[in-house]
Amino acid sequence: MKTEFSLAQLADPDIKEADKILRACVHCGFCTATCPTYVLLGDELDSPRGRIYLIKDMLENDRKPSGDVVKHIDRCLSCLSCMTTCPSGVNYMHLVDQARVRVEEGYSRPLLDRLLRSVLAFVLPRPKVFRLGMIAARIARPFAALLPSSSAKNDVTPTVFDRLRAMLALAPIRLPEPGPAGGTVFPAQGAKRGRIALLQGCAQQVLSPGINQAAIRLLTRQGIEVVLVAEEKCCGSLTHHMGRDDDALVWARANIDAWTAEADRGGLDAILVTTSGCGTTIKDYGYLFREDAAYAAKAARVSALAKDVTEYIAGLDVAWPQQRSDIVVAYHSACSLQHGQKITQLPKELLSKSGFVVKDVPESHLCCGSAGTYNILQPDIAKKLRERKIANIASVKPDIISAGNIGCMIQIGSIRNVDGSFIPVVHTVELLDWMTGGPRPEFGETELGATTKSSRIGSA
Ligand code: SF4
Ligand code: SF4
Repeated sequence: MKTEFSLAQLADPDIKEADKILRACVHCGFCTATCPTYVLLGDELDSPRGRIYLIKDMLENDRKPSGDVVKHIDRCLSCLSCMTTCPSGVNYMHLVDQARVRVEEGYSRPLLDRLLRSVLAFVLPRPKVFRLGMIAARIARPFAALLPSSSAKNDVTPTVFDRLRAMLALAPIRLPEPGPAGGTVFPAQGAKRGRIALLQGCAQQVLSPGINQAAIRLLTRQGIEVVLVAEEKCCGSLTHHMGRDDDALVWARANIDAWTAEADRGGLDAILVTTSGCGTTIKDYGYLFREDAAYAAKAARVSALAKDVTEYIAGLDVAWPQQRSDIVVAYHSACSLQHGQKITQLPKELLSKSGFVVKDVPESHLCCGSAGTYNILQPDIAKKLRERKIANIASVKPDIISAGNIGCMIQIGSIRNVDGSFIPVVHTVELLDWMTGGPRPEFGETELGATTKSSRIGSA
């Protein structure tokens, strides 16, 4: 794609990067076919190519984003399916991230929308505040029906009431007990073979602390010492995707300092992440700090150490069970894992080694609609994507759904098979831990036992 940035504009490293990305695009449109918003809405401006044109126009003309541009950028899930499809290697992620910052800085959203976004940006990265927020949301949930009714249609931006309703609907009925505190070290069992830091996560440690506890059990059984770094903060992913880079970079710097100190103090073989959305962002710290003389090298080191938990487990000498089970696991491939980190086969291979019958989900490249705060901010599109996702999952008739990202797990929720049997959604590492000596995962409000196979799941 031909670009027309001036030399003065190209002196800005972000514009220089945008220029490089835009020039790589050859307008072929292959990406449109795999873009969830284009598939649903059929509007070129809700496709990657359409958004690329909008962003190019905004950046080249140094124009403040219009309401229309904001609408189409806001509708992008940042699922990165387009990056997997693109034959020219267009780095859409870095382009849309830059556009979101422009929107945040140059567009004045309606007051209530601004307020809601500020609340989300404040609450979500702070686990203690998030826990209180979830309790408040649970109390407020019965009153959601009193909110003014929705007018959301494909061409209408959701109202703040639509968004509040979506937020309340996501609040869990009960919250589990908090997991171990930052600063805890879990010693390796037997001979020590490695030492890792495990990202504690923000929403995940409140909604499902059992995920990291499963990872800790599995890793320590393999001789790996696990450290929960006390000074660790939110990875910055949620605020980064809202265009609030100033906030995101403050969190990221704190983490880079904390992990660097831990690596220098006790040595770290890896920084493991059980929430793939966070993993994608931490792996990108090197890029985010490329122009920061004080942090560039440290950030690159942290990014190189960052691994999804399945990547690390795949390199361990795990004693997988000899017996196979007939439990069918539908593997939901989180966008951040498959498109963001290009990890597609590993989790399925590990589940298969654990003895499960692993099934791919049709249209697995399409997002479930979670996408950070997307299911709150774009509830109508997110709902349609969820419905499509659960129909695809149900079509393979699984006993369990496995996913590697808490956002997807909450968005998909546990669903029912056509015969009415309950299909729990569980993190991949919980299933791996279970099959290699850990306890059976919490399946939530299960009605397991309705079928013969479910009974085996309940007692395995
Ligand atoms: S990131 Fe996802 S929603 Fe956004 S343009 Fe690419 S494919 Fe479409
Ligand atoms: S597939 Fe890649 S090169 Fe083709 S239009 Fe999309 S972003 Fe541009």
